[in-house]
Amino acid sequence: MAEEIFQQVTNCSKQEARQWFKHIQKCPQVWLTQDALSIVAAIDLAFGDIPKPAHFTDHTHCPECADHDQNLRSHQRESIPRDALGCPGYDPITFCSPDGVAYYMPALVRYALAPSHFDDREWYGEQLLYFLGNDSNTVRHFNPQQKQALLAVVHFLQSSPDWVTTMSGSSHQVDLCMAEQALISTL
Ligand SMILES: [Zn+2]
Repeated sequence: MAEEIFQQVTNCSKQEARQWFKHIQKCPQVWLTQDALSIVAAIDLAFGDIPKPAHFTDHTHCPECADHDQNLRSHQRESIPRDALGCPGYDPITFCSPDGVAYYMPALVRYALAPSHFDDREWYGEQLLYFLGNDSNTVRHFNPQQKQALLAVVHFLQSSPDWVTTMSGSSHQVDLCMAEQALISTL
């Protein structure tokens, strides 16, 4: 759908439109607004030094853990595509170790702050907020600088409720409050 509109507006070929969308799906930084960019810079400062772990999940536990591990091992935080982050029902990050989540956090936040251009995927912010609000083990693992940087993400989304509603088709005030509480209570 978005590809067709882009093709009509720019008068490019169907193939060119598809390639362009493939490219922007890999490069979320090109969609970010100026406000969002400063929040992302703080996230990069707090999480950018985390090395890529050898494994992301308890990969010998079961086929689902093995699948999520293989998926996350096969990407880099600079280029992981939106598709690889799954959906609320099959979300690799919810199986991930705290070190693995920290490694991918710069990518997760970029997707949460970027408008969704992809008809086949939901807005990623929904998954990130749910995760932060419900996985207290991982949130406790983050250091104060990392939690402050994530709080800025939550507050940015809280200050734009219309935008969040537009992105997701429903209100996420509860998820936003739970994520905020989880971060503040462990600071
Ligand atoms: Zn398992």
